[in-house]
Formats: sequence, structure tokens, C-alpha cells
Amino acid sequence: MKIHEYQAKEILHKYGVATPRGIPAFSVDEAVAAADKLGGSIWVVKAQIHAGGRGKGGGVKLARSKEEVRELSSKILGMQLVTPQTGPEGKKVNRLLIAEGADIKKEYYVAALTDRATQKVVMMASSEGGMEIEEVAAATPEKILKVFIDPQVGISDAQALELAKGIGIPEGSIPQAVDTLKRLYTCYMETDASLAEINPLILEGDGSIKALDAKFDFDANALFRHPEIVALRDLDEEDPAEIEASKFDLAYIQLDGNIGCLVNGAGLAMATMDTIKLFGGEPANFLDVGGGATTEKVTEAFKIMLRNPNCKAILVNIFGGIMRCDTIATGVVAAAREVHLKVPLVVRMKGTNEDLGKQILAESGLPIIAADTMAEAAQKVVAAAK
Ligand code: GDP
Ligand code: MN
Repeated sequence: MKIHEYQAKEILHKYGVATPRGIPAFSVDEAVAAADKLGGSIWVVKAQIHAGGRGKGGGVKLARSKEEVRELSSKILGMQLVTPQTGPEGKKVNRLLIAEGADIKKEYYVAALTDRATQKVVMMASSEGGMEIEEVAAATPEKILKVFIDPQVGISDAQALELAKGIGIPEGSIPQAVDTLKRLYTCYMETDASLAEINPLILEGDGSIKALDAKFDFDANALFRHPEIVALRDLDEEDPAEIEASKFDLAYIQLDGNIGCLVNGAGLAMATMDTIKLFGGEPANFLDVGGGATTEKVTEAFKIMLRNPNCKAILVNIFGGIMRCDTIATGVVAAAREVHLKVPLVVRMKGTNEDLGKQILAESGLPIIAADTMAEAAQKVVAAAK
């Protein structure tokens, strides 16, 4: 789960990381009132969307007067912001962050994330922070330093010092940088984040270190123990189909292709998508209905898949283990009737009560295309989608 920059910086602030003061705003008037409240003479108007690269897309602007805050806010609020991370259609800006201006001497990059290869948390840092970090990572990966954290010990002083010195933090600011890295690690662990990134971490003219921009990704499987984080969810930033699916406890991710997939089990769902691609097709979605899918759940799953206008055929691939094939078959038939299914439907089922399931499908009178193996099912659905 992602959150906005202003929320991320509030969390960091709670963990004792210094951030420039800032106030979120949902309207132009609120933006001007925020600048008023912050005081000073320079403000930054920042678009709040769940995507990075806002600076490059024109979503981060300096204002040198309150009139300019008003001008820039009315321009950015409501705009369709296109950044290297949003795709060409961009994202609508519904929220702003008005922040006090910062006296930036140097921009660094620091982050904590899960490294699957070593099964450890890795803390990364770079002297080349700011808007070009992706290019730095691609062209000069040696400029990104990494330390791997022993979970029993946490980040050690020596490790934090290695990073702070390695990225060239000046002597006088080293203690604050070390402290910031340790707090970032603690924050990452305690919030069950899978990514906690500060980019840029800035050095100010007076030597102080601050988090100017922050990004978090939280592990969805741990959200049950963080109601305070769930409360930060912004549904405007999420795909409506995925929100609908999560209401029914369905794991659904919309994709670019035209073949809808309804599968039980995440592994089988991925294998099904691979098989579709192997035979020249493109999946329209990932969908795992889980082990305990009921007729209602299967019906909802069909509705969600069919709301996607690109969905030209559907493949149901079920392994009947805990889930019995006859239950799924009943669900498929009921769902197909309820949604007046018009696209071709290929069904492949194996396992518990397979024969009974096939019988239910055959006797339904619906034009269901049966398949026995995954390869056969994929070939048939690819042909049907053409
Ligand atoms: P991103 O492009 O979505 O990552 O947005 P950031 O918040 O990182 O802002 C992009 C860039 O704008 C930063 O790297 C800074 O160079 C600049 N910037 C952001 N906030 C301020 C600020 O308060 N003062 C100044 N002078 N520059 C800022
Ligand atoms: Mn940034």
C-alpha cells in the first residue's frame, strides 16, 4: 500500500527524522491559508499523487509570494500530471502539499528496502540524490552504496557511519546523518514497510540534514496490525476494479491484455498467465479467487473481469483441492447466467469432484468450451479472443 508524500513525512517526523514544515491542502484557498500559517517568504507547492518524478512533470514549484502560491496551486490542483512513472494518461492531482522553502546545498538518496536475494533489509545511500536517481542506478550503480542489516542486531553505528561517510556527508553533519539512517531503519521495521525512501535527503546551508521528499510502500499482508496506516489509504489513487475486488477478498490486478483469468491460488494464476503468453495471448488481469471461493465470490469475480472493456474471452483454471470442482462449476454457471456472459468462456478443472464439475458445466446449456490440460485451455482461449 502506498501513501502520499505529506503522510510519509508525518510518519518520519514521528520517528524523529527532521523534515521541512508543511501542510496538506485540498483547495486553492487552503493552500494560501497554509502558506500564511507557515510564514516565511518562499514556499514549495507540491502535487500529491502516488507516483514519483513529479518535479520533472511540473508538479513541484517554488513560490516567492502568496499570490504565486495561489497561482501555482490553481494550476497544479486538478491537473492531469504526467511523470515518467504515471504513464501517458497521467494522474489527476486532488491534493497539494504546501511546504516551507528549503536552503538546499546538496541532495542525497537514502532508502531501506527488502532484498529478496539475501533475505535481509538493505539500506542504500547515494551522493547523487534528487531527480536523476533512476539514471544513476542504471548508468553508475557503483554510486549506490548498500549495507545489509542483520535482523538480530539492526543497523549498527558502524554501518550507518559507513553510508554517511561513503556518500560524502560533511564532517559536522555526520552525527545527524547517522541518526537519520538509524531512525529510518526503525521506522521501516516498525511500520512493516517494504520500502522507505528519502529522496532527496538534503544538506542545508546551516549543515542540518532533512528529508525533503519521502515515499513508503507497506506490506499489504501486515496492514491488519496497522490501522493507523490503513487510515492513510487514498482510494482516488487506486484502480477502481482493484478496490471492488478487495471488498470481496479477491486478489485482482488489472493488466493490459484481453484474456480474463479466473484462477484459484496465486502460483497457479501466474502459471496460467505464463501459459497464455506462451501461446501468443495477453492476460487482461491477474485474479486469485483463493481457496474458499463461494458462488457469490465467483460471480463478483466475473463482474469485475467483465467491467474491463478489453476483456474478450475468459479462462477459468481451477485446481480442486480444498476447493471442490463442483462448487466452482456451480459458481461459474450462476455467474455466467447473472452477468449474461457474451464473451467466450474456456474452463479447465482438475482435482476433487472433477467429473461432477464437468457434468454441471455440460448440463448448463451454456456455450462453455471445455479443456483438459493447461496448454489446451490456453490455446483455446487465445483462439477465442481473436
Ligand atoms: P519528485 O520529483 O516526485 O521526487 O519530487 P521531490 O519532492 O523530490 O522534488 C523534486 C525536486 O524539487 C527536488 O529534488 C528538489 O530539487 C526540488 N525541491 C523540492 N522541494 C524543494 C524546496 O523546498 N526547495 C527547493 N529549493 N527545491 C525543492
Ligand atoms: Mn523525490
